[in-house]
Amino acid sequence: MVLSSTSPLAHPDFAAASNRLTIDLGALADNWRKMDRLSGKARAAAVLKADGYGIGIEPAAKTLYAAGARDFFVANAEEGAELRPFVPDGRIYILAGMWPGNEHLFFDNDLVPIINSEEQLSLFMAALSHHGDHPCVLHVDTGMNRLGLTVEEALALAHDPVRPASFSPVLVMSHLACADDQSHPLNRRQLDAFRSVTQAFEGVDSSLANSAGVHLGPEFHFDLTRPGIAVYGGEAVNGIANPMKPVVTAEARIIQVRRVRSGDTASYGASALFSRDSRVAIVAVGYADGYHRSVSGGGVALRQATPSGAYGFLHGQKVPHLGRVTMDISLFDVTDLPETAVRAGDYIELFGSNIAVDDVARAGGTIGYEMLTSLGHRAVRDYIEA
Ligand SMILES: *Cc1c(COP(=O)(O)O)cnc(C)c1O
Repeated sequence: MVLSSTSPLAHPDFAAASNRLTIDLGALADNWRKMDRLSGKARAAAVLKADGYGIGIEPAAKTLYAAGARDFFVANAEEGAELRPFVPDGRIYILAGMWPGNEHLFFDNDLVPIINSEEQLSLFMAALSHHGDHPCVLHVDTGMNRLGLTVEEALALAHDPVRPASFSPVLVMSHLACADDQSHPLNRRQLDAFRSVTQAFEGVDSSLANSAGVHLGPEFHFDLTRPGIAVYGGEAVNGIANPMKPVVTAEARIIQVRRVRSGDTASYGASALFSRDSRVAIVAVGYADGYHRSVSGGGVALRQATPSGAYGFLHGQKVPHLGRVTMDISLFDVTDLPETAVRAGDYIELFGSNIAVDDVARAGGTIGYEMLTSLGHRAVRDYIEA
């Protein structure tokens, strides 16, 4: 595959890297615009936690800001402080909220704390008495039982006659537990509970939907949606074809092609057993690169439950992983490709436009989110500009 090794952002070592990632910022921008359109009257935020789902917070933020995003969610205040220079007039919301001792990060970097509990509410109000007015978000738990004030606590706060005038959230939010399963009854129960809260905070913007929630339809959109995984090209909803463009292509090089005989074994634990004379590509990628050991073709516990491990893609064909993924090396069976086609030095696609990241994740008993956020720092990265 010819990649943008001529792009101005290309790392000088990209063309010969053992292990490389191509990150398509044009696809990222297109995916965000699509989620923004699907959000209808609501505006779409961008979720940039965990280094922009592994692709790099700076390029992700600059690209999504240029595409029009002005609301950004990250996990903690440190991520928020890192993000601030890339989205000068954007609003940055901090999912974990404020801790005693990190209040300054919020005031110095203009970060909006999300208030997840009565304790965080008290801390925020105390901080306000020193610093003066500052925006905040009220998080209400409507059924996930993870973060947020209970619905009762939120309603009491809304109707509290002595509620301090300085407590004026810019957003009321909640998070869906089962949006990836469109028929799950909890979706409707959470929607009804959330509505009771938004009615009590009339005039305040509200937000409920992550990527999967956007697909639940207009009732779930409120004023602001919070798509993450879909923007990065991952699957948000179970059981429907993924409509997003892949953003990340992960490739690694074949170090050597080996011939083995029928009856031979390969890999740790002799976990690959050959029932025919075969050719094996020895590839420079392992679990230290985020290619999880659980995606192994054999020799791991998961293969008793689902027989098939991950596939790579090489010269127009899917090739199965063999034996165990090790720290730096993986084996693929290339016997079914023409002998002259496969050479040392060739790149094999681990995931990208031919192999969905979510298919590799499924082989490893996990989800695309975990594959992306595990991307190693050993790979050479090339960003294709939007
Ligand atoms: C991570 C996160 C999102 C984004 O979820 P996706 O499933 O990646 O779209 C939205 N809201 C909250 C509260 C989150 O923690």
